[in-house]
Amino acid sequence: MTRFEPNLRIPGPTSLPPSVREAGGRQMINHRGPEFSAMLGRIQAGMRPFFGTVGDPAILSCAGTGGLETAIVNTLSPGDRVLGVSIGAFGDRFASIAETYGAQVDRVAAEWGWAAEPAEVQERLGGGDYKAVLLTHNETSTGTMNPIPELAATIRATSPETLILVDSVSALGAVPFEMDTWGVDVVVTGSQKAWMAAPGLAMVALSERGWAAVETAKMPRFYLDLRRHRDAHLKGETPWTPAIGVVFQVDEGIRLMAAEGAAAIFARHEACAAATQAGLEALGFQLFADEAHRSRTVTAAWIPEGLDWKPFNGALKRRGLILAGGQGKLTGKIFRVGHLGSVTVDEILGAIATLEATSIEVGRPIEAGAGVAAAQRAALAAAD
Ligand code: PLP
Repeated sequence: MTRFEPNLRIPGPTSLPPSVREAGGRQMINHRGPEFSAMLGRIQAGMRPFFGTVGDPAILSCAGTGGLETAIVNTLSPGDRVLGVSIGAFGDRFASIAETYGAQVDRVAAEWGWAAEPAEVQERLGGGDYKAVLLTHNETSTGTMNPIPELAATIRATSPETLILVDSVSALGAVPFEMDTWGVDVVVTGSQKAWMAAPGLAMVALSERGWAAVETAKMPRFYLDLRRHRDAHLKGETPWTPAIGVVFQVDEGIRLMAAEGAAAIFARHEACAAATQAGLEALGFQLFADEAHRSRTVTAAWIPEGLDWKPFNGALKRRGLILAGGQGKLTGKIFRVGHLGSVTVDEILGAIATLEATSIEVGRPIEAGAGVAAAQRAALAAAD
């Protein structure tokens, strides 16, 4: 058993800053009173610049998957043709939700570890009358980040009225996003990722085109109905009893993010991603994702041949380092290191040091200090 706080390096839930933890322990308040109303307004205003929108994000009490379902059921009708662009497990999930509610989904799938190709999306779009395209911003299962501005520009140019729905659950708040400028219609994120809070809230922002689609969509919806959320938010409320403890935390997380500033947050995530990638490579781990599209919030690496992962991971855990395994067809093949939310370069150096010490212990041919030195150099270079 560890006697110290683990270094929680999974891609969400992310570890909480002390003041966010304290915020979650507050006494309950009336969710139909002025204090809650002010908090909701602060959260919406604080999130707007990270979405890159002048609109008000809807705040729902559900997991990120509930946010994806919200995007689908509020903008589509059964029978609508939808292009599901999938580069991994979460892209598959987004497409499956649309299918579940009766959309006619065609899939474009990239090999896992690769980003979506705008030219391929363009070609597929040209051949059909698509109501919506589903995109994953950051594919958490493979550590790959899609080029959303390029993909959105291609979709807009090819099929101007097609809705662009983006799952940015594991990226928004950590990397730049400009939904209004890029012409994105629906963006979904979740409290337990870059927002440094516990799981429990999904935030969903819509363009004008997106809101127009909400009025005509025929898929069934009640709890996740965005019209009910919009109307309640205008009164400073939520339609249903919200996860108030998490709302307190997101309010504090947003305060911390505003104090740090978006540019500094994005730079910190870049430095942590660079340090993770360089450190792992120096320790002889081969990174999973295509170099040009590696994620700035989660890094995936192959489990090397000959390394018995279970005892190795057990030794990492005993030293307080908690990593994520692979998902779906990558189970047992890769491991993932999360670096989003309240992460610091020091925490990444700590993770690399633990991986280094454990590697040496099990006899991998590693030069002591090489991983940490490479990670440190990469973080410094990213900061320049
Ligand atoms: N989409 C992406 C890209 C994710 O990383 C996740 C969670 O890791 C989800 C959707 C689903 O979020 P949740 O587990 O909160 O339902």
